Amino acid sequence: VFDNTLRPMILAAARSARIKDSLQRLTVTRRVVERFVPGETRSAALTAIRESLDDGLSVTIDFLGEDTTDESQATATVEAYLELIAAMGSLPESGSGAARLEVSLKLTALGQSLPEHGAKIAEENARTIAAAAHEAGVLVTVDAEDHTTVDGRLDIVRSLRRDFPEVGTVLQAYLRRTEDDCVEFAESGARIRLCKGAYAEPASVAYPTRALIDESYLRCLRILMKGNGYPMIASHDPVIIDAARATADEFDRAPDSWEHQMLYGIRADEQRRLAAEGARVRVYIPYGTEWYGYFVRRLAEKPANLRFFLRSLAG
Ligand code: FAD
Repeated sequence: VFDNTLRPMILAAARSARIKDSLQRLTVTRRVVERFVPGETRSAALTAIRESLDDGLSVTIDFLGEDTTDESQATATVEAYLELIAAMGSLPESGSGAARLEVSLKLTALGQSLPEHGAKIAEENARTIAAAAHEAGVLVTVDAEDHTTVDGRLDIVRSLRRDFPEVGTVLQAYLRRTEDDCVEFAESGARIRLCKGAYAEPASVAYPTRALIDESYLRCLRILMKGNGYPMIASHDPVIIDAARATADEFDRAPDSWEHQMLYGIRADEQRRLAAEGARVRVYIPYGTEWYGYFVRRLAEKPANLRFFLRSLAG
């Protein structure tokens, strides 16, 4: 019932302005959101960054926002990233060469969906951020959004990588096309975050069941581990986590040639356990006022997350 009925309904709510307004007004929503988002300000993000670094984790920081319909909002997002990167650049870890600091960007927050010249505006904005990050010793990964944006995003990433080869992106195992994309990006030596995928997608482009998505994930994992790039294995799933280690061993990968990634607030103990064992682990830390879409996607991922929220509403 959760996968076939509730999940698509919750993901549809992620795009509803009316539900967004109502939920954002509830104090209890904010209390539950805090589990997944450390705060709305840069200073809250910096506190979470320092705590994670102290625990031996690497970080990637997302200034929350998506589906921008206004060019000035896209410009404000660029400014927020430049300020964040400047603050991250003054952390001692920025000069360590260990690549522990990263930002994650969504191209639709940078203007990709604007009706006129969206792709060009998003690319220019992403390039401004990538240049500042390069200068500050901070990595950049371009997040994956719904399937209609994939071709445009991968074109922009290919173009950015010509000047900044360290710019990475995300491939979603639920999309039928992703094995081919993995082959291309593994050959070109890219940093690739592999995740299952978090949006509501039609069966024409995406595998419809968890079992098929997991099988696709494992096939993609092998392609990336075998290739020349830097695989970033983004999953909380114990089966995937074990398969990542086993496949890395099979292809004789050194521990610093790939990493695990997980989200802030999810399996925090497991993140620290893997890091203590010597694995590279990066935690994805989102911050900002535009937390609604991100939060609803987390509710759609796991019945326990939804139950936690509903119980808080009731009590
Ligand atoms: P699931 O399939 O959700 O869960 C599988 C199993 O994992 C569960 O059965 C359980 O055993 C375990 N598990 C999961 N959650 C918990 C928990 N809270 N506590 C205990 N056990 C748990 N999606 C995108 O579409 N685009 C992106 O750019 C993107 N970036 C991401 C970045 C990172 C770092 C991560 C971790 C995810 C990202 N995602 C992104 C989301 C991703 O696509 C999935 O929706 C999300 O990670 C859930 O899939 P999963 O592999 O973690 O496990």
